[in-house]
Amino acid sequence: MDKATARVSPRQLLALVRDVMAGAGTAQERLDQIVTVIARSIGSDVCSVYVRRAGDLLELFATEGLKKTAVHLTRLRVGEGLVGVIAARARPLKLSDAQHHPSFVFRPETGEEKFHSLMGVPILRGGRVLGVLVVQNRTLRRYVGEEIETMQTVAMVLAEMVAGGELIGGQELFPADGIAKAPLQIPAARFHAGMGMGVAVLNRPHAQISQLVAEDAEEEHSRVRSAVTEMHGVLDALLDDETLAGDDEHRGILESYRMISEDAGWLARIGEAIDSGLTAEAAVMKVQNDIRARFSRVSDRYLRERVHDMDDLADRLLKHLIGPSADSGADDGLPDDAIIFARNMGPAQLLEFDRTRLRAIVLEEGSPTAHAAIIARALDIPMVGQAKGVMGRVEEGDPVIVDADHGNVLLRPGENVTQSFLDSIDDRNRQKAQYAALRSLPAVTSDGTKISININAGLRIDMPQVEAAGADGVGLYRTEIPFMARSDFPDVASQEKLYLDVVRQAGEKPVVFRTVDIGGDKILPYWQESPSANPAMGWRAIRICLDHPAILRHQLRALIRSAKGCELRLMFPMIAEVAEFDASRRLLDMELERARKERRKLPSKVFVGAMLEVPSLVFQLPTLLKRLDFLSIGSNDLFQFLFASDRDDARLAERYDPLSPSTLSILRTIVSQCDAASVPVSLCGEMAGNPIDAMALVGLGLRSLSMNPSSVGPVKAMIRSLDLGPLRNYMKSLVQLPDHSVREKLREYARDHGVMI
Ligand code: PEP
Ligand code: MG
Repeated sequence: MDKATARVSPRQLLALVRDVMAGAGTAQERLDQIVTVIARSIGSDVCSVYVRRAGDLLELFATEGLKKTAVHLTRLRVGEGLVGVIAARARPLKLSDAQHHPSFVFRPETGEEKFHSLMGVPILRGGRVLGVLVVQNRTLRRYVGEEIETMQTVAMVLAEMVAGGELIGGQELFPADGIAKAPLQIPAARFHAGMGMGVAVLNRPHAQISQLVAEDAEEEHSRVRSAVTEMHGVLDALLDDETLAGDDEHRGILESYRMISEDAGWLARIGEAIDSGLTAEAAVMKVQNDIRARFSRVSDRYLRERVHDMDDLADRLLKHLIGPSADSGADDGLPDDAIIFARNMGPAQLLEFDRTRLRAIVLEEGSPTAHAAIIARALDIPMVGQAKGVMGRVEEGDPVIVDADHGNVLLRPGENVTQSFLDSIDDRNRQKAQYAALRSLPAVTSDGTKISININAGLRIDMPQVEAAGADGVGLYRTEIPFMARSDFPDVASQEKLYLDVVRQAGEKPVVFRTVDIGGDKILPYWQESPSANPAMGWRAIRICLDHPAILRHQLRALIRSAKGCELRLMFPMIAEVAEFDASRRLLDMELERARKERRKLPSKVFVGAMLEVPSLVFQLPTLLKRLDFLSIGSNDLFQFLFASDRDDARLAERYDPLSPSTLSILRTIVSQCDAASVPVSLCGEMAGNPIDAMALVGLGLRSLSMNPSSVGPVKAMIRSLDLGPLRNYMKSLVQLPDHSVREKLREYARDHGVMI
């Protein structure tokens, strides 16, 4: 097998390409020369460039070595043939025996049959594949990594050439669905509910990099060094921002982000790219492209989010290198009704915008647990993510409607759509006003049963919602969210400060702290345990805490200290058996004893509960209920385990209904056992916030619910319009049915009985 190495260094090749680019002639003529230069430099028999055209076709635009008559004639679909595969995967491919690859397709017009080995790289720009650059050899040549690197670097130059619009028209650079300008509806995942209407602001560095090939490497190194220093200065200033004072979650997010910006490996790779002949800007772009390509198939959320952070930093560094004119994300010129579109977004970037002008955020990628999503939730900015292909379809200034309640992005909506959206906003506002009027009224059914309505919270910024929504307290404080947003485990003192602040903000109203539910999808950036194959059922929550008791003990210590002289309510997550509850309780007793010995002021009373999220615990209820003060049903987890149906898998989202005879039956069993043991029981999963589900829960005997603040109004309105007596009897009949779901029946019941759902 022939193992050749590049004939010239990447630097030399780039210099040759630069000379061609700077020379005379049309873009096509220059492209023709470039393929010849590459073939000679790499020592290949063929070098071809395919450009992506409308209809997702890859057209042969220039070749050295294949029949020239095939130029502009040979076309492959994205995904078709090896060239199509490179474009579809957006990753390089090298094969010493290409003709035996299952994706090989033979195009007689090219005379390709003589060539055995092939190496190709995508021509990428801003995350979009604009074409493919390929070399081929007659022999069974084994291409080496350095050659791929060189090809990728040259592909960057070609990307700028294609994007320049001389080879194909600018309109074709948009996704070739032919409807780039037409109204378009793009489905997306809901990250934070709400609706927003405004104009598109594209948050991507315009990266009009005029020079890709450097004259003087030393000068480029020094430009990167000063840009990095400048970038650190801006991040430090953000960290010093006094609006973040005392806001540990946001500080934590920024701190971990600042740490990544010092990543030596990242900076070293940029340095290497400069050594290969690129300018500082081009080097940053190349490293960013490499990282994205390498991790594009990684499904691990934590890793993907780190890649997004790196992306964000690269964009930021580019801005410092290119200068203020390329700054697309700053507030200058930000319209009053901005809908921000980004491939992804880092937390710092989001905090830099003037919040009062943001109507919504749309991400092409992203995950609901990403830092930026946590911040959007805290700032109450509607946000959707995973809007596939949106960055290629939206244009700056496009009118946009974001319906984050239903996960829809409407680009360039027509008049009718806009009007119906405005109508639904009006409806929403009218309803909001009605709910606001209920704020100070209790949640009592029309026949006089009081239902306790609480909110789920997880950031201190959520706390004012207790009052604003007219809730009775916090039924679930997810303590892991501040843990997730930091760069290290919070120590006892900072936890104590946080819990004290939460309790103070709640005033007289009770707060139920859930001890940390880390693991599963709730990943701590600083805790890098090997991931479970099945995270929801893996090593998480109380399982981690019992294996590493120091984590729980520190938290309990902080909770005890924060509650001096007041009542403390806490519960343990994911308890699967009584023995786990006992073990957790023993740790609590040890911490109470410690506080006593240290002569600290103890809580006036400690209420200890468990979350019922694992079905096994239902069968130990009589034993468990003797040992605890309250029970809280976590229906999100309980039902995913009951139905063996991953709550995060979109394909299963509608498969099983929480309002099914089996779920109602298990809930009834739990509630009646709690009633018999006189143990208060509450439900804090998502279903509690849905009026019709909440109606069923109340009908089954639940007297306490905990939900997102925005659900308090609608659920209160439902309760105040409900006559409980007849519903209780009706519920009994539903449990026996063979139906998949009883939702429709309950809806009809609500309609017939005037219940506001
Ligand atoms: C639940 O499982 O229902 C619950 C409230 O906990 P989380 O959603 O935080 O897992
Ligand atoms: Mg849970």
